[in-house]
This record gives sequence, C-alpha cells and structure tokens, in this order.
Amino acid sequence: MFILILGAPGSGKGTQGKILAERLGLPKITTGDLIRGAMRDGTPIGLEVKKYYDEGKLVPDSVVLGMIKDELDRPEAKDGAILDGFPRTAAQAELVDRTLAQRGQRLNHILLLDVTEDELVRRMSQRAQVEGRPDDTPDAIRTRLQVYQRDTAPLIAHYAQRGIVHRVPGTGSVDQISEAIKRIIGR
Ligand code: ADP
Repeated sequence: MFILILGAPGSGKGTQGKILAERLGLPKITTGDLIRGAMRDGTPIGLEVKKYYDEGKLVPDSVVLGMIKDELDRPEAKDGAILDGFPRTAAQAELVDRTLAQRGQRLNHILLLDVTEDELVRRMSQRAQVEGRPDDTPDAIRTRLQVYQRDTAPLIAHYAQRGIVHRVPGTGSVDQISEAIKRIIGR
C-alpha cells in the first residue's frame, strides 16, 4: 500500500508519517530528510541544493526526480511505502504515478493534514527555537507557505479526481490525529 501524506510545512507530516509507517510496517520515504542528509554529508547534491533549501524554496526537480526514482526502486519499497514531503510538484506527481503504474501499483490513499496558517507559523517558529533549522526563519517560513500554495496545493485537485484524498484535521493531540488516520485507512 502506498500512502501519501500531504500538507503545508509544519502540518505534522513527519510525525504522523513515522507513526503510520511503524504501525503498517512500511518504509517511510522523506525527501526533506534525504536532502538534509546530503547537505550534512556535503555531497555534490548537498552543496547544489543548500541555497534553495535555506531560503525555503523547492529544490529543483532536476535533482529531486532522480532521488524519488531511486527511493521507489529500492526493494524495501516494493510492496508499499509512506511518502512524506513528495510529490510536491506536478512533475514529481507524474513520476510517482508513472513509476507505480509500470509496476501495476498506484497511490492508495492521500492524507491531507489540515492546519490553519496561524498554527503552521506558530509551530515552525517554535521548532526554530528547538531545532534551529535554517529554513525555519521568518522569511523562509513565509516562502515555504507560498510555495506550498502555488506548487503543491494544486496536486490535491489532481488526486481528488480519483477519489483518494482524505482530509484529516491536523490540530489536536498527536494521538488524536493518528487515531483519525487509523479510522480512515482502516488499520
Ligand atoms: P516542510 O514540509 O516542513 O517544509 P520538508 O522537510 O518536507 O519540511 O522540506 C524542507 C525543504 O526541503 C523544502 O523547503 C525544500 O527546500 C526541500 N524539499 C523537500 N522535499 C522536496 C521535494 N519533494 N521537492 C523539492 N524540494 C523539496
């Protein structure tokens, strides 16, 4: 089963994705973590993407598409995965759709974590004090929210046509939200 967790930055995709992946015994693929790992290790890709990342812009598809393909092709993801942080652009969505279709698979569920913008800003600003992520500065947070609305939110309509989008209220305790997801997925 392939499940996509979609939501604005700060909506809790990482937290809920981790809980869901552990419960279903599926790998979680997180492009943000892969990108942060490349930057931390100082790989050529890491150096190339840093300025986009730090400003809160999307890393170009020329880099991310290859990353997604490699991850989906891993044997661990043969029967399913939790997708966290991608697809984020139309080209990424096409790649995911095409790669799965070639294997006779498809995205089964899209979970859309619904959180108000005020709450998103509050969470990211708070996280900035704890984790010090370079893209949690006020300017980068503003950019990330704009990029989400412009590039990623349109994917909701794309998937809604297939009837696989479930809206999950993203406010409440972590447990309440994961219970809501459990009811939607049925396990
Ligand atoms: P958040 O959803 O809170 O912004 P992520 O870790 O998913 O956190 O993303 C952080 C940053 O990593 C993004 O602003 C972007 O620069 C980069 N990034 C992550 N995933 C992608 C992706 N699929 N395509 C392009 N850039 C990405």
